[in-house]
Amino acid sequence: MKRVVLFLPLFATVIGLGMVSCGSDAPTVLSPVKRAPSPTSIAVWLKSSSSINWLPRQVSGRYDGASALDNIRQAAAGQAAKRSAYGTAPGGYVRLDPRMLRAMQSMAKEGYTFRVTSMAGASHSRTSRHYAGLAFDIDKINGRKVGHGNPHWRKFLARCRAMGATETLGPGDKGHSTHIHAAWPR
Ligand SMILES: [Zn+2]
Repeated sequence: MKRVVLFLPLFATVIGLGMVSCGSDAPTVLSPVKRAPSPTSIAVWLKSSSSINWLPRQVSGRYDGASALDNIRQAAAGQAAKRSAYGTAPGGYVRLDPRMLRAMQSMAKEGYTFRVTSMAGASHSRTSRHYAGLAFDIDKINGRKVGHGNPHWRKFLARCRAMGATETLGPGDKGHSTHIHAAWPR
């Protein structure tokens, strides 16, 4: 009698699993739900991607909690990204735009490796889209520094434009001889 009582829940579980795994009319709650991944889940993916390196400080050398690494950690925790508060940077926080996050994920999935040097942080031009969470800077692609001798950055920026970026700058543009900049519309 005691044995029956012990095994009954197990038996019920086995029967239950069997019912779920066979037949095409499994309960809808157990079916995979196809839904666009949230910005937070994309940020979690990006943060742990071995294809992407995140600068842990500003290019200027400052540690102000608003580096590319700080920003992706904040986004992966579901938080707004911190902006810098020096130069023309306004301080405060901003959500990283999901279009930008998705583009970075696509580039990693397409086989690119790259280093992100800035998103919401650092001091840029006064009306920079960085401050709106819409832009990233990258200074290394496929193990090589961005520059005239690196063959990868042009195609990288072309892919960003194909994924919605409307402001793409790189070597040849003023102030961008060693990094590329891609920004999405407001
Ligand atoms: Zn930039």
